Amino acid sequence: MSAQKGLLIVLSGPSGVGKGTVRKALFESDDNDFEYSVSMTTRQKRAGEQEGVDYFFRTREEFEQLIASGEMLEYAEYVGNYYGTPLEYVNKTLEEGKDVFLEIEVQGAMKVKEKVPDGVFIFLTPPDLVELKSRIVGRGTDDMAVINERMEIAKAEIEMMRHYDYAVVNDQVSLAVDRIKKIIESEHYRVPRV
Ligand code: 5GP
Repeated sequence: MSAQKGLLIVLSGPSGVGKGTVRKALFESDDNDFEYSVSMTTRQKRAGEQEGVDYFFRTREEFEQLIASGEMLEYAEYVGNYYGTPLEYVNKTLEEGKDVFLEIEVQGAMKVKEKVPDGVFIFLTPPDLVELKSRIVGRGTDDMAVINERMEIAKAEIEMMRHYDYAVVNDQVSLAVDRIKKIIESEHYRVPRV
């Protein structure tokens, strides 16, 4: 019998819902048992971000070459930049029997669902849209045009929830983290869908 492959866990949801914060809290807690797949992006590095930890920062040309050579599991263009998941790390880690965790926006999540239908797709939802706007504004890193564009994208993204296996409300980071851990734990007891 071949070794059991790991689970591919995909956390997605609207911009500003707190995916990054929840993901960081999840990985800071000591009882997590999965590997984070560092994404690649063409956007500018923000203060405090590190190459290979927060993202692999690349030029558009470099990113497009990796797309052309089939090295991305998925990618999406989001507010004028590419974001994507390098394929090799994901495949290697799953083959080793370890769970891999992706934190990506919804277009990319839907591409992963086409390629890996037995992944675990978790949608992080804001308590409501008004609060979502104040969180995006409160983050203070984007100008108004970008905020409005992000809001339009967010409304469409909320419609996408029905394509996911689970919806987790991010009313409080620690609660959202606990809910995600429970989902992943119970997924390990799932009878294989074959
Ligand atoms: P930010 O620029 O705020 O770091 O990220 C913007 C959006 O890109 C977030 O919604 C984040 O989840 C998403 N994102 C980060 N990495 C990836 C990725 O590898 N693929 C896709 N499709 N989206 C990503």
